[in-house]
Amino acid sequence: MSENNKVNIDELLAKVPTGLLINGEWVDASDGATFDVENPATGEVIATLASATSEDAKKAMDAACAVQDEWARTSTRERSDLLRRAFDLVQERKDEFAALMTLEMGKPLAESYGEVTYGAEYLRWFSEEAVRNYGRTLPAPEGTLRMITRRKPVGPCLLITPWNFPLAMATRKIAPAIAAGCTMVVKPAKLTPLTTQYFAQTMIDSGVPAGVVNVVSGKSASAISEPIMADSRLRKISFTGSTPVGKTLLKAAADNVLRTSMELGGNAPFIVFEDADIDQAVEGAMGAKMRNIGEACTAANRFIVHECVADEFAEKFAKRIGELKVGNGLDEGVTCGPLVEKKALDNITALVDDAVAKGAKVLIGGKPGEGKGYFYSPTVLTNVSRDARVAQEEIFGPIAPILTFSDEKEAIALANDTEYGLASYVFTEDSNRMWRVGDGLEFGLMGFNAGVISNAAAPFGGVKQSGMGREGGAEGIEEYTSLQYIAMPNPYANA
Ligand code: NAD
Repeated sequence: MSENNKVNIDELLAKVPTGLLINGEWVDASDGATFDVENPATGEVIATLASATSEDAKKAMDAACAVQDEWARTSTRERSDLLRRAFDLVQERKDEFAALMTLEMGKPLAESYGEVTYGAEYLRWFSEEAVRNYGRTLPAPEGTLRMITRRKPVGPCLLITPWNFPLAMATRKIAPAIAAGCTMVVKPAKLTPLTTQYFAQTMIDSGVPAGVVNVVSGKSASAISEPIMADSRLRKISFTGSTPVGKTLLKAAADNVLRTSMELGGNAPFIVFEDADIDQAVEGAMGAKMRNIGEACTAANRFIVHECVADEFAEKFAKRIGELKVGNGLDEGVTCGPLVEKKALDNITALVDDAVAKGAKVLIGGKPGEGKGYFYSPTVLTNVSRDARVAQEEIFGPIAPILTFSDEKEAIALANDTEYGLASYVFTEDSNRMWRVGDGLEFGLMGFNAGVISNAAAPFGGVKQSGMGREGGAEGIEEYTSLQYIAMPNPYANA
């Protein structure tokens, strides 16, 4: 355990609720079923939680619906203050949240602390946005009407989160839903539910009323989501996860014409032009690729490097990657943890093998680790064929494939040659080129000479098959509101 984190793991795990949160109470599953949560660095079971059934999901939905009207009538200041208290409590518990995320997800402790800061920021940001949920007054061109708009809470929401950022993906949805006045059922990923369970307890400790936030963890996602999606009282689904599951949920959402926010997969290009500051690009690449063990939807997936600087970039990048210390994220000095599960490790191994079979050269790494955890050595591949799987699919691991190009148009075309459109990165010292390339790229997020771009104050989201809707920023709260237009006669119209 690192010097700066003195948390006693057994005591911490004993504090994490293991039940389902329904109507303000932690309860067992109706059939008594449970599921295990593993530490991916050791393969050991660290907790056993109640596994929600469809019946439990319906009860959670009933609880959310029962208090929706009352919750919608609370003042924005009340909801703002609640979020601010939650922000302060997460800060107080930062050592516990950091240790918990590393334990269940594997990321190095320093990165878990980074996620505590980032994830908590959504609580603070939306506590500030809650009281600025403005409508507009509109001039009627003919002068016959007085017209205003106002934003109302959309209603009960289903929030489904992924395993890779267990705290931030929860706060990015729960905080704007609270700010807007919505009640919710939250379904965390089964690989990393502990952080959400502990965060839900933190919301209770901050004073959230019973029924506003309900949490149903469980081993079968569809057993939980299907009855809720089929309930005509549900008004919105916000989902972060893979594109295939997002498509399934979009189809189900059509039946009740639900409002949807979809934060789906990515295949981010990281373009390095011949005029880039290569050292800056390498530092940017370390953040864009290696943060979160490469398991981020914003992770640089394809390094598209001008042929004149490709060798220099690859060598410097490989040198920096060679400095990473792979191991249990709780151990001092570890900078790259394990993959989240065995399936992920097998997938990464297969992707690298496929690239090598198609002619790629392993500059560094290229092999699974030893021992019980799901480790893979951080890898740089050069000479990667454009039809290698690693250049086509979302990698979700510490693998950096380098492809080359010879002119700007080719770089843009290669970058856009994917069904995804979430994050993109461009490194160049030429500001005209920066804007030109920015105009050409079909991505919701762009980093110009920057490798880490997420921020609670910015609208996060993709285009194409990376999804729809935006989280964070001024736009984030709008996803949880419906706009109502009100008209009345202008008393002076005929005066
Ligand atoms: P996943 O799609 O397998 O699971 C995401 C969530 O959906 C989990 O809670 C899971 O239990 C649930 N789920 C799975 N099948 C379901 C079903 N049939 N019905 C309802 N819920 C279901 O994704 P994952 O492996 O947890 O996360 C990785 C993926 O998430 C990657 O593709 C990544 O790019 C994406 N992601 C996107 C963003 C973003 O903001 N765009 C952020 C983080 C992760």
